[in-house]
Order: sequence, then C-alpha cells, then structure tokens
Amino acid sequence: MHPHLKYLIELQAVDLRLIEIRERLSRFPKRLAEVEARVTAARQQITAAKEALTSSLKERKTYEMDVEQWKERAKKYRNQSSEVKTNEAYKALQHEIQNAEGEVAKAEDRLLDRMVTGEEYERQVKAAEAAVKEIEAAANVERHAIQAEYNAAQKELATAEAVRAGAVAAVPADLIDHYERISKRHGGIALAEVHGEGCSQCGVHIRPHVIQQLQRAENEEFFHCETCTRILYYADHTPGPAPAAPSTAETSAASTRDS
Ligand SMILES: [Zn+2]
Repeated sequence: MHPHLKYLIELQAVDLRLIEIRERLSRFPKRLAEVEARVTAARQQITAAKEALTSSLKERKTYEMDVEQWKERAKKYRNQSSEVKTNEAYKALQHEIQNAEGEVAKAEDRLLDRMVTGEEYERQVKAAEAAVKEIEAAANVERHAIQAEYNAAQKELATAEAVRAGAVAAVPADLIDHYERISKRHGGIALAEVHGEGCSQCGVHIRPHVIQQLQRAENEEFFHCETCTRILYYADHTPGPAPAAPSTAETSAASTRDS
C-alpha cells in the first residue's frame, strides 16, 4: 500500500464524519423553530378562545336588548288594544301581540343559548391557558435538551476537525489538493475501496492487474477508478489464519517427533 494512503483513508473517514456532524448541526435551527412554533400555536389558542368569548358576550348583550325590545312592543300593543274602535283593528292588534310574544320567546331562547356557549368559551379560555403552561414547560425541557445536543455536536466537530488536521499534516499538500478535487466532484467521497473485482463506489469492474498491484504491500503507486476517478484502495477483510493455530500444530508436530 502506498505509504500515504493510510492517512487518506483516515481523512476520508473523518470527512464523512464531518459531513454527518455538519448536517446534524444544520438541523438545529429548524428543531428550535418547531418548539417555538408549538408554543406560539398554543398561545394563539388562548387569543382565539378569548376573542370567541368577547364576541359571545357582545351577542349576549344584543339578544338581551332584543328581548327587551320585543317585550316593549308587546306591552305597547296591549295598551293600544284598549283604545281600538273596530273588531278588525282589535284582531289585528291581537295578532301583533301574539307575534311580539313569539319573538320574545325566540329572543329568550337565543339569549339562553348564548349564555351556555359563553360558559363554554370561558372553559375553553381556562383550558387553553392550562395547555400553554404545560406546553411552555415541555418546550423549556426540549430547548435545554436541544442545546445540550448542539453543544455535544460542536465538541464532536472540534474533535473531528483536529483528527482531520492531523491526517492532512501527514500527507504532502499536492496530494491533499488532489484528494480535495476528487472529493468535491463526488459528494465528499474521494476514495473507493475495491470490493470483489469492482469499485465499491460506482461498481465498475477493476482490471485484475490493478487489483494485484493494490494488494501488494510494497506497492507505492496510486490507482484511480477509470469511471468515477476515485482513488482506489484494497483492504483485506478476510480473516487470516489464527496466529496461534499453526504454532500449536507445530508444537504438537514437534512433540510427536520427540516421542
Ligand atoms: Zn468507481
């Protein structure tokens, strides 16, 4: 393996971690805004309930006046009925009185209805106020949790940046430039491991002699994927023979020979 490749692999790993941390950090403003939005919405519920209560009280006043007006009118017709001269006029007045009394009854029903809904709105205002208290308390807990997470993420960022600086310092500047150029073109991934006989990033087939070169411990050449241009590396994932096993075999073979 090329002596610098080890640091590039380290760099790649820390770069991916940095992408993830920065992405996480970028979501914090939205998360905080969601908490604030919940509190605002709850406060608006109070405002809405209070407005409904106020207009219900206004309507109640109107209906109270309606009741009074129709009562007045009925009274007026009753007073007039003692003064009418003709039977027709008397009948007409009786009709008006009945009508006015009917309106009184209707206005009283509406008024009663308003009084009931008014009580309901009062209950809603109280419920909304209680809900806001709960939501604000929960929001406070959440704000603190989010802040703690944010601080932890900032610490992770600082650590990862230090690791990155270490890896960068271990490699010549032109190689870092080369790495950065490929990384920028390929969504932050400049390195591609060889999997089987292909590039793990784009899947294209890698020529066997390249794989052979990459597998050689003394190889000091860089190879790039012909399709995605990423820097190729080979990592041996196959578990080798357990180091203890052959020596035990040797010992037992030796002891067999001895006996
Ligand atoms: Zn590739």
